[in-house]
Amino acid sequence: MYVNIDQAFVTLATTDNYAKGAMVLGKSLRNHNTSKKLVALIGPHVSEPSRAVLRKVYDEVRLVDVLDSGDAAHLAMMKRPDLGVTFTKLHGWTLTEYSKCVFMDADTLVLSNIDELFEREELSAAPDPGWPDCFNSGVFVFRPSNETYGKLLTTCSENGSFDGGDQGILNSFFSDWATADISKHLPFIYNLSSIAIYTYLPAFKQYGRDAKVVHFLGKVKPWDYSYDATSKTLKGQSQDASDMHPNFLLQWWELFSSSVLSLMKEEYGDQPFHSGCTESDIHVDVAQMHISHHPPPPQMSSQERKQKWEHGQADYMGLDSFENIEKKLDSFLK
Ligand code: UDP
Ligand code: MN
Repeated sequence: MYVNIDQAFVTLATTDNYAKGAMVLGKSLRNHNTSKKLVALIGPHVSEPSRAVLRKVYDEVRLVDVLDSGDAAHLAMMKRPDLGVTFTKLHGWTLTEYSKCVFMDADTLVLSNIDELFEREELSAAPDPGWPDCFNSGVFVFRPSNETYGKLLTTCSENGSFDGGDQGILNSFFSDWATADISKHLPFIYNLSSIAIYTYLPAFKQYGRDAKVVHFLGKVKPWDYSYDATSKTLKGQSQDASDMHPNFLLQWWELFSSSVLSLMKEEYGDQPFHSGCTESDIHVDVAQMHISHHPPPPQMSSQERKQKWEHGQADYMGLDSFENIEKKLDSFLK
């Protein structure tokens, strides 16, 4: 197969948890036969076994230690210590051995081959579901360049970020994205966040089957759940499940348990690590599929339930358990 050695998918992980996300993302890109290089930028706090797993999945794992870099990023960081992870993300622009890259957040999952994104120019991205005149910085096409990198750092340290993160800075810097060139607007299916499902359910029913990349945007990430690999069910440890989408979440966990967990076991050996994944015996108590410490849900009419669901308050663990929702979604998507 022809491999574009000067084009790469790039992600970032500064913690072992985000590294798990990067492992699943990398596997999902490989499973869909990407012809591009895979690069993971990591921070100094990622543990050695996690780095070793990343090296098995990615072509290149590059340590980015902003505090230690002694370059403009270090200076910018001293002025704005609150923007630490953001400076690390901007380091993508220093990958000048690549002519074009697609950055993907570590909390994204690829559902089909997306190499066609490399036909787009800097800066291409999909609209943010919260403010569609801004792009979402979870998936974007860019051209590494030391010049751009320097300008981004200057903007960053002088003006800060209007949302405290990289998305604010990148939108201020590429400020004509909304108006200048429609080819730089990626279709929403390249960065589908669960939030869109609740804010516009009919559109999700119509177009959701075409999703190419899902983005687990928000406070609760897939790795905050635990997964029973035998019964293929999730156990929500988190109370705040409203911004997650169960079907995509299951896909993330299936990939983790089938392709990533064994690599982690090899690298961690006897060292304990938290996989979030269990293999219970076959006799799964149906009650276990629901969170047992939750009180039984009050009976609701289906109209009430529909309204709650559409407002993002699905009763995931009870009536709207993953199994039920999956059946329902399957029937929409057929
Ligand atoms: N990130 C990281 N460590 C952190 C926070 C973020 O490595 O502590 C990276 C990671 O690639 C993540 C991206 O920065 O996907 C953006 O953060 P996040 O996905 O949490 O933001 P959201 O998409 O929920 O706005
Ligand atoms: Mn994200």
